[in-house]
Amino acid sequence: MTPRPDLLARLALHAQQREQAGLRRRLRVIERVDGPWVERDGRRLLSFCSNDYLGLAQHPALVAALKRAADDDGVGSGSAHLIGGHRSAHAALEEALAEWTGRERALLFSTGYMANLGTMQALLERGDVCVQDKLNHACLLDGAQLAGAELKRYRHGDVDAAARQLANRGDAPALLATDGVFSMDGDIAPLAELAALCRREGATLMVDDAHGLGVLGERGEGSVTDAGLGQNDVPVLMATLGKALGCSGAFVAGPATLTDGLLQFARTYIYTTAMPPALAAATLAAVRLAQAEGWRREKLHGLIARFRQGARELGLPLMPSPTAIQPLLLGDARSAMEAAQALEQRGFLVTAIRPPTVPQGQARLRITLSAAHEEGDVDRLLEALSRAPRAQPV
Ligand SMILES: *Cc1c(COP(=O)(O)O)cnc(C)c1O
Repeated sequence: MTPRPDLLARLALHAQQREQAGLRRRLRVIERVDGPWVERDGRRLLSFCSNDYLGLAQHPALVAALKRAADDDGVGSGSAHLIGGHRSAHAALEEALAEWTGRERALLFSTGYMANLGTMQALLERGDVCVQDKLNHACLLDGAQLAGAELKRYRHGDVDAAARQLANRGDAPALLATDGVFSMDGDIAPLAELAALCRREGATLMVDDAHGLGVLGERGEGSVTDAGLGQNDVPVLMATLGKALGCSGAFVAGPATLTDGLLQFARTYIYTTAMPPALAAATLAAVRLAQAEGWRREKLHGLIARFRQGARELGLPLMPSPTAIQPLLLGDARSAMEAAQALEQRGFLVTAIRPPTVPQGQARLRITLSAAHEEGDVDRLLEALSRAPRAQPV
């Protein structure tokens, strides 16, 4: 009998293979954050890789709300929502999120990853079909697999391909899930067309709006409202609290039948500790600011337009994105790493995104803009990009 393979040795071997392919991931410590500036290894860098799109993560109103609530209630919630961890700060935040997104109810989860896993595991059963855009976030793909549904992926943004996949399984209960704004590409899903398709096919539409909430829509309601759609078109809406809202956590919003069902069956909701109530209080302050301070969105969209204009003039490999995520497509992983290193030498923090996070041959610099940036910051980034090693055309 051959000896049993050792799991840790196998893991080490896989890590070594990543290293050899030039794809090893490394953790680096950020020592300080000051708006868009970060300090790493004692050096100040201007960061273009945070998802704090509205510049709220360090806002004094959020910090004050967090402190006040922690003074009153302490830090940890002590238990799961259903056991005794559900405090008035959670309830108030859920109500505000439902109202903001035009939904009957909202239910908090500790992270977006858990929200998607729990929602899909509660909604889907073996034999169901889950149709998804190829570029959906990893947790949507994992969620369908965890639920045991048949996962069918369609070409990015291709509504006809999605229609064919639904038609192939015309008899099965079906969920069509898509990112509202794609996390590595920044483009927006064809939501109105997908909603029409789901209506025709009797499928349920789920949108993950992690990068749309706060950024899109008149009052930051997100990509779904911005597309002119409501709860009937998109019955399952998920969004996160750790991006434009500058906090942490997530919610799922929709009709009461959805949130009641999640409360009964979503295992990542039931069997986990409720988020700290002080965090819910801070997030409520963030929601109020995101709704009221339209200037943050206007400033952000001004910076997006400025960046795109400048990048076009420089002939940089821009992708067609109208949102805060402005990737430059460099192709191979090495080019992306070299460009990121060259930028770091010039004082900018921009992360290279490599496979398997993005498809082979589509490594990129994922540049993100924020209302915390100034026009001069964007101009200086463009100037540095014009000197960075040029990508091979892809
Ligand atoms: C970030 C992200 C998530 C995960 O949210 P977390 O709260 O960070 O776990 C889910 N979906 C998309 C599209 C994301 O970008």
